[in-house]
Amino acid sequence: MQVGVLALQGAFREHREAFDALGVSTTEVRTPDDLGGVDALIIPGGESTTILKLLETSALAAPLKERLNDAMPTFGTCAGLILLARVVVDGRADQVPLNAIDLTVRRNAYGTQLASFEVPLTIEGMDGAPFPGVFIRAPVVEAVGEHVEVLAEHSGRPVLVRQGRIWASTFHPELSGDLRVHERFLDEVMR
Ligand code: GLN
Repeated sequence: MQVGVLALQGAFREHREAFDALGVSTTEVRTPDDLGGVDALIIPGGESTTILKLLETSALAAPLKERLNDAMPTFGTCAGLILLARVVVDGRADQVPLNAIDLTVRRNAYGTQLASFEVPLTIEGMDGAPFPGVFIRAPVVEAVGEHVEVLAEHSGRPVLVRQGRIWASTFHPELSGDLRVHERFLDEVMR
């Protein structure tokens, strides 16, 4: 399986490093051709409004929507989750999300004081120590549809979810120094 990492803006290098550490090579995706060559895609954290704009200018928006409709294994982290959502609250007026996962998300919902923090997370089905959840100007998932499975919560809000082969987190597993979330995503989508 060839894993692509959307490399328009944000923390894409850190995702590549996490897969490298797992012995999985990745491709940077910046063009429709790049996207055509991958079997799975990581959408990194960064700034969702900027990434959305760059998706349009790089002509990736339409082919990406098609691949998401075809259930390409995809993992969106932080801004990536915002892009994959069905509904975005406090987005820019013209921020139309990709609607690939049935959830409502509020941008920058922790406010300025708590803009960035780290908390231990209990992830369903993951043994061992809690996972270090790194949150950076994170969004909050306010509602999920019935087909969305919640794998971890913080303060009663979902922070790691999946709907079929589409995964999303409000935290940054690529910045935690812990590879278990990347490993789990790979294990499950390669089955
Ligand atoms: N606040 C950013 C946004 O709205 C997301 C932050 C992140 O990806 N770390 O896009």
